[in-house]
Amino acid sequence: MKKLVFQYETETIEVTVIRSKRKTLSIAIQPDGNLLVKAPLGLSDGEILKWIKSKTGWIIRQREKVLEQQNANPPKRYRTGEKVSYLGCEYELEVRISEGRAGMVGLLEDKIVVFSKEDSEDIVENVLNGWYVEQAKIWIPKRVRFFASQMGEQYKNIMIKNQKKRWGSCSSDRNLNFNWRLIRMPKDIIDYVVVHELCHLKQMNHSKAFWDEVEKVLPDYKIRKKWLDENGKIFI
Ligand SMILES: [Zn+2]
Repeated sequence: MKKLVFQYETETIEVTVIRSKRKTLSIAIQPDGNLLVKAPLGLSDGEILKWIKSKTGWIIRQREKVLEQQNANPPKRYRTGEKVSYLGCEYELEVRISEGRAGMVGLLEDKIVVFSKEDSEDIVENVLNGWYVEQAKIWIPKRVRFFASQMGEQYKNIMIKNQKKRWGSCSSDRNLNFNWRLIRMPKDIIDYVVVHELCHLKQMNHSKAFWDEVEKVLPDYKIRKKWLDENGKIFI
């Protein structure tokens, strides 16, 4: 692996070059806007840079798209003053350095206080996420029990899982799985996911019959589903 530099107007773009036994060059824009180039073994740095230059127009357009996307969905930060959400409400994160209370989380009226041994965003993130998981393990099963009894459904186990792509799932042996990240979302949306999975106990598909079942329990489910489709990714 080798790093080159591609200068475009006032911008310095870093190029990571991976050489391997391949015949052609390929280029990809990384999330930070830098470039990743895969090149054949024999090609010199100069030749690679010349090739990159010939692709300048494409690179700049693609790069703008990637960077725009990054700005629309910036990575979460875990330090005092950042906004964090819990059950759809926004709180201010406060990090307090403490030996004795390290690992604890306090929920105040407008603040979530995370106690940490050191001022490290990784540690704060871990402590806060651990707390979210605990809250999800309390909140979600409560809502499942509520709707299951209303619908007259029997289920086996409820698992709160760490999954990046799915909000919930339901297995053929009647186990229900939920993503702990749901706990950051509004209660109405969590209820929608709960009802959605419970309805899969009746219909293991997304047929019209399935959506009819969902509608029986939540007549406004379409609004909730739309909200989840549009906003869900912010909570991942
Ligand atoms: Zn489904």
